[in-house]
Amino acid sequence: MFNQTALFGAALGIAEPVYIERIDFDAVQGELHIYMNFRSGVRFACPKCGRKETPLHDTVDKTWRHLNFFQFKCYIHMRTPRTECPECGVLLMTPPWARSGSGFTMLFELLVLTLAKSMPVSDIAKLTGEHDTRLWRIIHSYVDSAYGKKDMCGVKAVGVDETSVRKGHRYISVFADMDMREVLYCTPGKDASAIGRFKDELARHGGNAENVSELSMDMSPAFISGASEHLPRAEVTFDKFHVVKLLNEALDKVRRAEQKINPLLTRSRYIWLKNPGNLTAKQRQKLATLSRENLRTAKVYQMKLTFQDIYATIKDSTNAEIAIKKWLSWAIRSRLEPVKEFARMLKAHLAGVLRHFSSKLTAGTSEGINSHIQQIKARGKGFKNIRNFISMIYLEMAGLAIPDFPVAHSR
Ligand SMILES: [Zn+2]
Repeated sequence: MFNQTALFGAALGIAEPVYIERIDFDAVQGELHIYMNFRSGVRFACPKCGRKETPLHDTVDKTWRHLNFFQFKCYIHMRTPRTECPECGVLLMTPPWARSGSGFTMLFELLVLTLAKSMPVSDIAKLTGEHDTRLWRIIHSYVDSAYGKKDMCGVKAVGVDETSVRKGHRYISVFADMDMREVLYCTPGKDASAIGRFKDELARHGGNAENVSELSMDMSPAFISGASEHLPRAEVTFDKFHVVKLLNEALDKVRRAEQKINPLLTRSRYIWLKNPGNLTAKQRQKLATLSRENLRTAKVYQMKLTFQDIYATIKDSTNAEIAIKKWLSWAIRSRLEPVKEFARMLKAHLAGVLRHFSSKLTAGTSEGINSHIQQIKARGKGFKNIRNFISMIYLEMAGLAIPDFPVAHSR
């Protein structure tokens, strides 16, 4: 006959002397309760030092939430032994299905971690009937432990970028390994001291600021001063992604000003900011119509396309310098203040802008990391809690050794 008890036992990774005493099904509550026990007279090893046959001190009744069994919530109960080791004292045994100190089975926790990579935690809370604070506790616990073990000894090329926690709200600085395309560190704030905190974190993970020879970032004065103070050996690159972003901001300022006198421009923001290749047929049509008008916005748009062409077609810094200087004189003559402001910024930081053409940093890395973070932010519908936001970035992007679901129990 079908042995239900043995089936559950195998699924939970339990073995003698622990056994399933009984399984109760509560049809009214829709709950399944599995009661574990251990053979009487058995002595367990000390959970800390491993000393065999440690005397039993007492037992404590514990409950763990396990994966649902079909639509039914499933709980495991056990009178859990506490050993009394002459060396380590009285300690609670951790059964094979649990992580020490957690009220969930490991399988349940790994399911939460797996789901968290593709759905909002608030939805997992609804799905499992658990409060999201408890689910966040699971996520923080695994991420903190795996992040603590992250090895950063080979880090040489670093990118730093800022991102808002919620739209227009507080910021965090995100540091990434440009070679591995992994997030290394996130910290609240976007000031010079953020780079100092990164330097300290790097050291805690076996890395060394002296070995950081390439740094990719935007032209923010705070990052520039932080870099010269904390990462003095790093050659700075103002990468394409950040430079073009700044030009897009100038373009948008021109459009906003012009929209006030020309209603044609209403709701055209994304048409100018997107690359022509990414426009829908309808947007392309609108762009063609707008281009026939004698608009300042259209003029700056042409300047942007020309500027992006420099990145797309020129492969060395000598020719890039010639092309950018030519572009700069065009921009200065534009008589449009946002564009002139961008040009002055570019001129003041020209060496770092040109380094893009000689450094080995992959231009797409900053952009890729940024867009992944935007996805995480969108899924979380903006994060109220900075710690939750950072944990989620680490979970998905820091290359952490968090076991994938499902795993075999190793203990
Ligand atoms: Zn011990």
